[in-house]
Amino acid sequence: MKVAVIGGGWAGLAAAVDLTAAGVKTTLYEAGRQPGGRARAIEVDGAVDNGQHILLGAYRETLALMRQVGADPDRLLERRPLAVYDPTGFHLALPHWPAPLNVAWGLLTASGTGWREKLATARWMESVKRRRFRLKEDLSVAEWLDAAGQTGALRRHLWEPLCLAALNIPAERASAQIFANVLRDSLGSSRRSDTDLLLPRTDLGQLLPTPAAQWLHDNSATLSFGTRVGGLSANGDGIVIDETRFDAVIVATAPQHAEKLWPELTCDFDYEPIATVTFSSTQQPDSTSPAKTVRKIWPVGRRPQPGVARLRPERSRRMGNPERQRTGSSAGCGTGLTWSGHLAKSHPRKARHFCLPSQARPPGFRDL
Ligand SMILES: Cc1cc2nc3c(=O)[nH]c(=O)nc-3n(C[C@H](O)[C@H](O)[C@H](O)COP(=O)(O)OP(=O)(O)OC[C@H]3O[C@@H](n4cnc5c(N)ncnc54)[C@H](O)[C@@H]3O)c2cc1C
Repeated sequence: MKVAVIGGGWAGLAAAVDLTAAGVKTTLYEAGRQPGGRARAIEVDGAVDNGQHILLGAYRETLALMRQVGADPDRLLERRPLAVYDPTGFHLALPHWPAPLNVAWGLLTASGTGWREKLATARWMESVKRRRFRLKEDLSVAEWLDAAGQTGALRRHLWEPLCLAALNIPAERASAQIFANVLRDSLGSSRRSDTDLLLPRTDLGQLLPTPAAQWLHDNSATLSFGTRVGGLSANGDGIVIDETRFDAVIVATAPQHAEKLWPELTCDFDYEPIATVTFSSTQQPDSTSPAKTVRKIWPVGRRPQPGVARLRPERSRRMGNPERQRTGSSAGCGTGLTWSGHLAKSHPRKARHFCLPSQARPPGFRDL
């Protein structure tokens, strides 16, 4: 059996590794000159990430894939229990305890919010869990929180930032069902490790794309980088790409590229950009606050070498005004912070599609 995979992002690499491991003759086509897609390293005064990425302990399949291709997640990722700090005094940190005790204790000991709100939130989370995180009908996250009476500090400092971080869209517009799915797989999971944050210690290329491409090469898969597939045509019971016939094709591109290859994959999605800004500083970042939110911006620090901290990168909901980001970042990270002079625009126009309520999906799409 011969299968083509179109797209060498993390999804396409995962498909190609699985197929190759199952003994299928696999060809991977990637338009870029390197693998990784939206989660890759780019060269700008050294290797910087195309966009700040934080993984969750819940990404068990991704971690297994990393191990399969020889990238050790325990060495390459820093595992920390979820902690949210806010300059206004809100602080919630989960202990290293079994789930759901860790979430209960984190909630109980959170500062910047009162008992009444904590109790209401615990009751609400319990009822969402009882309904297995399924909503009767999809609505916006803001409407969902309103209906649940979640209108206080926990909403402002926990639910709304989590929604923006996970879905890249504010609570007023985000799909509550998709947000509930995120909660199910993370804070609502029965495994404590699922709730952890995993912060890359290295650039994104080293996490998966480079080792996966090497693994595919070593296991006789055909890798075709710098090749943008222009179209697919059906031929009997197969599919042809540039005069080569395949028994099957996996399209692992972003939706806006998939629909150009196969019209049935057309989705009526709206997209928006994500800005990534890289700083360098002689001051160590505050390592205890990976999820401190400053005006809806997430400063995340990494230490490439002792004494030098590269705060990389930040992302904002919109392709932002650098001045606004400079102000926000300086406020959040203290003095000693300087621009490295680099504003990396990652996928300026279509970084991410909007997760709107009841968004129509292509036919055959299986809801997670
Ligand atoms: C700035 C930013 C920050 C993010 N932060 C996080 C985060 O913190 N946590 C998280 O889990 N996720 C995050 N994401 C989302 C994550 O990056 C994506 O979900 C993931 O990378 C998508 O992988 P993919 O393989 O599905 O698609 P892509 O990465 O888009 O890969 C598709 C590949 O297909 C190729 N391609 C397209 N058309 C063709 C063609 N015709 N022929 C050949 N090749 C083609 C493209 O070049 C691309 O390499 C972030 C994304 C961005 C942009």
